[in-house]
Amino acid sequence: MIDLIFLGTGSAVPLSHRNLSGTALLRKGEIFLFDCGEGTQMQFRRAGLKPSKLRYVFISHFHGDHLFGLPGLLTSLQMANLRQVVHLFGPKGIAEYIRFHQDLCNFGFDYVLHIHEIDEHTPATLWQTSEFHIEWQPMQHRLFTLGFALSEAPRPGKFDVQRADALGVPNGPERGKLQNGESVMLANDAQIHPHQVLGPPRAGVKIAYCIDTSPCAGQEQLARNADALIADSTFPASEQVWAHQTGHSTTTDAAEVAKRCGVQQLFLTHFSGTVGPADLPSLVEEARVIFPNAIAATDLARFKILPKL
Ligand SMILES: [Zn+2]
Ligand SMILES: [Zn+2]
Repeated sequence: MIDLIFLGTGSAVPLSHRNLSGTALLRKGEIFLFDCGEGTQMQFRRAGLKPSKLRYVFISHFHGDHLFGLPGLLTSLQMANLRQVVHLFGPKGIAEYIRFHQDLCNFGFDYVLHIHEIDEHTPATLWQTSEFHIEWQPMQHRLFTLGFALSEAPRPGKFDVQRADALGVPNGPERGKLQNGESVMLANDAQIHPHQVLGPPRAGVKIAYCIDTSPCAGQEQLARNADALIADSTFPASEQVWAHQTGHSTTTDAAEVAKRCGVQQLFLTHFSGTVGPADLPSLVEEARVIFPNAIAATDLARFKILPKL
């Protein structure tokens, strides 16, 4: 299970009711932050997220509404005397952006900041652990823009108690080991392997983050079979021509991608300043005609994303 927390759901300029882009995922106590518009660290605190848990930051592109909050956030980690390791991923140039602020403002970091710059030659898989991996694809925007997806590794299959009983596996730590993928030796010297007592592996959670884009192949690749798609829905369906001219999507564009890609849940976000809070129900309705499980993200809204059964 992963917690999805929207910190900012607007585009271009901050509004009193809507902050600029920032989306946090909370997984096993680690925070993954996608984009860091101005004000993101305040939203971080309002959402009750602990800066000490921040491990990964992903910047989609160099439009100010996605990264003007980053120098402040990184500086606050230093001022709080935090000593964690933070991985920052962004387009080529992100290291220079950080260095410029450090040089001009004469500050340094005592914590470890690993900067990973991405260009069109960077392999699709950006980061891989035994529990999850992060991939990227190019979006279709007015400048080089990255979309991301976090995919958990498949989980072990369901434990078959009857099968374990039949094989003589005692009710004890042996069962836990088998569930965790380890083979065990029984008292009668019989070796039992996990595949003998576990069902087929079950999918982990996949969450795709694709904002500031018109519909494109990269978005479809990231969204494929995602449990949650966080999608650019800057404009209502009536403004599709303008949306595509500016490298954005409409509610119905997002819904069509979600439908085509077998997504479980669609979150519309990155709304234009011309979309007021009272307009959101009608935007959701036009998306739901195509993809019923669509939700309009609002600042500080929080959702639990569960894997498919
Ligand atoms: Zn934007
Ligand atoms: Zn942009």
